Amino acid sequence: MNNEEVRKKISDIPRLIKARPWWKQGLLDEYDKSTCNTPRKPIIHNKRPFPRPCYECGKLDVWPTTIDYKAEVKHGGQLYKFDITGLQVIQCRSCNEIYFDAVADEQISQALEVIMEDSTPVFKPFVYYDPDGDCLEVVLSMDNFYGEYVNKNLVTYHKHVTDELVGLMIDNVSQLCKKITEE
Ligand SMILES: [Zn+2]
Repeated sequence: MNNEEVRKKISDIPRLIKARPWWKQGLLDEYDKSTCNTPRKPIIHNKRPFPRPCYECGKLDVWPTTIDYKAEVKHGGQLYKFDITGLQVIQCRSCNEIYFDAVADEQISQALEVIMEDSTPVFKPFVYYDPDGDCLEVVLSMDNFYGEYVNKNLVTYHKHVTDELVGLMIDNVSQLCKKITEE
């Protein structure tokens, strides 16, 4: 390592210190350090008495309260928006800063579970054109089906056991359209 490299290394040090994660910056006196080896949100323990200090305005004026909350939670790559009435949080009466503790988090995840149970996708019949295969597919139900070749351009879909028609696929759509308009 030459001098230039050493100087570069040294100049990197302040940046490295600054980049240390918050849970290693001595900000955790309030929290149980033994549980903070991994990055996680601070947990505000319920056992601590009220009022508690406000990290926003510095006053000792944080109390438990309930709020109506518009939740936006990402889960499984999907964004869920829902209202929670009477969410238990703690709030500063001086500056109105709201803190979500473990109790609030638990309520939000419970509400999300209910929302997800209610939002099982409903099947709607659809028509789909695949430009690569030049085929048009019509699907009328989610039932398992088998395909039957009617001719080189048409496959019909039938439900197992009952043979009920539940969809079809038309091949060479652009050729067929051309033919129809020529006739
Ligand atoms: Zn405050």
